[in-house]
Parts: sequence; C-alpha cells; structure tokens
Amino acid sequence: MTPMLSVVDLVKHYPAPGGKSVLALDGVSFSLARGEIFGIVGESGCGKSTLARTLMRLATASSGRILYEGEDVMAARGRALKRLRGEIQMVFQDPFGSLNPRHTIERIIGEPLVVHNRPGRAARVRELLDLIGLPQSAASRLPHQFSGGQRQRIAIARALALSPKIIIADEAVSALDVSIQSQIINLLAQLRRDLGLAIIFISHDLSVVRHLSDRIGVMYFGRFVEQASAADLFATPRHPYTRALISAVPKLPGAAGGPCGKRIVLSGDVPNLAHRPGGCLFHPRCYIAQDRCQKDVPPLAATRPDKPDWLSACHYADEIDGLVAETASENR
Ligand code: ADP
Ligand code: MG
Repeated sequence: MTPMLSVVDLVKHYPAPGGKSVLALDGVSFSLARGEIFGIVGESGCGKSTLARTLMRLATASSGRILYEGEDVMAARGRALKRLRGEIQMVFQDPFGSLNPRHTIERIIGEPLVVHNRPGRAARVRELLDLIGLPQSAASRLPHQFSGGQRQRIAIARALALSPKIIIADEAVSALDVSIQSQIINLLAQLRRDLGLAIIFISHDLSVVRHLSDRIGVMYFGRFVEQASAADLFATPRHPYTRALISAVPKLPGAAGGPCGKRIVLSGDVPNLAHRPGGCLFHPRCYIAQDRCQKDVPPLAATRPDKPDWLSACHYADEIDGLVAETASENR
C-alpha cells in the first residue's frame, strides 16, 4: 500500500553568521501510513522542529520531496496549499503561547473554520469539546481559566476543527507534568482509534514516545539513524546511538541490565551542526566505532532481510551485540 505521506531526502539549510550555513536536515526520509503513529525522537537541536515546520510549509526545504496522497506538498500554492493545511495540522509545545488570551475558547477552537469559510461553527465547536473531553461550558471561557493539560486539549481541538488526516505534535506534552502527559497521550491514542487520524509525535523524551508510537524514528544531527517498530527498537536497537538513548532511561526494558547491558554514557561533544564530522556523523561519540566509520557515511538501510522496514544507519548493525560486549569488557 502506498503511504499517505512520504518524505524523501529532505534537506534544509539555515543561513548562519559569517556566510556559513547550518544543515538542520541532511537527507531525511520516512513515510507515514494512514492511521499510523510515527514517533520522532532525538536530542535538542537535531532538527525535529525543522522537519515538522517543513512538512507544514512553515519553513521551505532546500531540496527533497514531500508527497501527501501523491501530491507534491512543496509545490502547492494558493488553494491547493490551503486545502493541504486543512489536512495536516500541528500542535505545539506551549499551549499558552499559541492560544490568544483574550479570545474565548469557542473563538479559538473555531478559528480554522472561519479561515476556511466553513459553516456551522458553534455546533462543530460543541462536537470538538466532546471529543477532547471538556464540558460545553468551556466554550465561553478564556484560556487562563484552564490548566496546562486542559489548554493542550483546547489546542488539540483547534487542530482537529477541519478534520485533518494528520496531526503533527511537536513536543506537545513536554511542558506538562508526568501524570498530565499520560492523559494527553491517552487522548491522542483515542483520537487515532476513533477518527483514524495519523500522528507524527515528536519528543526529545524516548519514554514519552514509546507509549504512543507504532513506529519510531531516531534522529541525530539532522538525520534518521534508525527507524523500527516501537517493539523492535526497544527490544534490540540496531544503532549505537539508539542503544545509548534507551540505556539512559530508567525502567525501560532496554535500560541497564536489559539487552543494552550497562548504562552507556556518550563521550565527546554534542554535535555542532556548523562543524560536521566526516564519515558517520555519530563516530566521534560512538563507543563501537571502527576505522571505516571515519570515512564512509552509512546509509539508512534495511539490515535485516526478515524485517525490511527496520532501518539502521550503522555499518555494524549486524555485529552490534558483539561489539558492545567487547567495549563493555574493555572498560571493566
Ligand atoms: P529540535 O526541534 O530537534 O530541537 P530544531 O529543528 O529546532 O531542533 O533545530 C535544528 C537546528 O537548526 C539547530 O541547530 C537550530 O539552531 C537551527 N535552527 C532552527 N531554526 C532556525 C532558524 N529559524 N534559523 C537558523 N537556524 C535555525
Ligand atoms: Mg524542537
């Protein structure tokens, strides 16, 4: 089946001081099926928001392709772009910043309907309040009368107003307390079930992404280094960066004691996008790097014949268990 959304080799340069440029996206590819939840995880600054903004056409990619239902997103103009904006909607981290404090909830949630000239605003807002679990009385109130979690529900309702097919949630639960986080995550899971919504769920926090996602993509330095089903990724990660991330989260099956063994602490500097290392981008911090990793860029590719959708950008994905074990014994 053709994916609903496919992103091919997306590149994004930002101009940087001194006539230099920052390569925020360096050949990003992934696809999203109808009704699928794809989690994107990676350290701050690795390009997650840039990717989201580029998909929404809030930023312009330098090159690459984005196809939504076969339509070229980057080439869309005028009415075609407006229609696309109805089909793909975004929820941001800060629900307070994105809700106008002087507007009623009805006006906020109904705003996209006005912009798109859709009739029946009041009735649709009532439906949306039901959908996200707020009482009808919320319609006449102002944003400051709600908690952080409720405001994020309101932001989700607004994103749903035009019945989009895809929601991009960029750090949408990162500012919330853990208990509220799980309520919002449950709401998103329920919306996927009830509406068949596909979700691109972005977070720097692996434990948050894990609960909701069918598949997960791990980003590093403007690239995906691994993509796999959530179950496979956590059970036996096939990239050393993924292993390090998982090993650092207490209580995960892959944390210290699990398949990843001990906590892996990465040495070396956090990547600087203006000074990219040659070869594998991860090699300066990699605990299993070999000579080859300084020269050859590993492509993001299937490394297991039985699981063609499991992609890893490591030359040593097949030997990772042995190499990690060797490193661990050397360090003892
Ligand atoms: P993330 O969301 O993963 O934290 P971002 O996509 O926000 O990462 O940023 C990726 C890189 O692009 C960072 O180095 C950031 O400084 C840079 N960047 C992001 N937005 C801009 C911009 N508007 N102008 C210049 N550089 C930017
Ligand atoms: Mg971000």
